[in-house]
Amino acid sequence: MSAAPATTPLWANETEGRSFHRLPVTTMLNGADLTVPLHVLTGAKLGPTLGIITNQHGDEFLPTIVIRQWLAGLDTGKLSGRIVVVSVGNPLATAACQRLTPEPHGRTDLHEAFPGNARGNTTQMIAAVITAQVLDHIDFHCDFHAGGTGGRLQGRVDYNGKAPAEVKQRCFEMARAFGQPFVHENDLTGTSAHYVTTKRGIPSCNPEVGGTFLGPDSTATYTKQSMDGLTRLAAHLGLVDAPVPAVKQIHFDLVARRELRPHNSGYLESLYERPEQIGQPIAAGTLLGRVIDLYSYAVLEEIKAPFDGFLFFSRYSGTVSAGTQAFALAEAAKSERLD
Ligand SMILES: [Zn+2]
Repeated sequence: MSAAPATTPLWANETEGRSFHRLPVTTMLNGADLTVPLHVLTGAKLGPTLGIITNQHGDEFLPTIVIRQWLAGLDTGKLSGRIVVVSVGNPLATAACQRLTPEPHGRTDLHEAFPGNARGNTTQMIAAVITAQVLDHIDFHCDFHAGGTGGRLQGRVDYNGKAPAEVKQRCFEMARAFGQPFVHENDLTGTSAHYVTTKRGIPSCNPEVGGTFLGPDSTATYTKQSMDGLTRLAAHLGLVDAPVPAVKQIHFDLVARRELRPHNSGYLESLYERPEQIGQPIAAGTLLGRVIDLYSYAVLEEIKAPFDGFLFFSRYSGTVSAGTQAFALAEAAKSERLD
């Protein structure tokens, strides 16, 4: 299990109820203090501590807003254990409405900066504070992501296939409990918070649900999926009392995963822009979208399914740069159906 914590978290002795803290990180050039926001819900009954981080990438707001709503609906009198939420993992990236921290040197992706370094760049300083106040003191971890401003549609939960066997199994069970159409065994080795926790024996899952600026209908669908997922996860971990009925899911690993990226920049006309199309079987050769040259109006390329599979992310129509992640499929022959 995890090494002895270096610091006592400021929420360690909190009794039943809710608290909000701003964890100091450093000072900024505009004169303001840089802090990381932390919400703590402490239940009336004993139980595990679940840590959740959102907005590690600054343009992924959906989970943040969903969790606000989800926490408001929880009754701490019926909660067993504690839920610790970093609502905005990277405030600097969020302020810039971009994925990464706008700083000139070093690792600027908070998702790749854990466990952090108090003497590193600003992104590493943020990671160090989150590690000291959250990751060092939790029993379960959830790194909650969404699509960014690229218009991504998706519903899956990743877990670290490189975690030690017993932890890997518990990560898989958490990922499955979330109830999304897809469960993805991914390689999260490296410097993500997910990797840091699983390496310490703390089961972790990494939902990727919905996206940003998707409009009211898709946002409502993904909000409901995320709310249900959080309740199912909390019930699975024993924090709340709620049913976790089995759902049909598709389980796939990196061998089955294929991302389709346009070779040309242009306007992507996507034929898969609705949440209900995610998870549907797609036959080899099916046209998924085409890239149009905004200047000559020519069709530069057609993007087709390379094999029989399941579309696990798609995106809205819009301008794309060459190499952008446009669509992704799990190959049917290499995927497993979970009932
Ligand atoms: Zn992300």
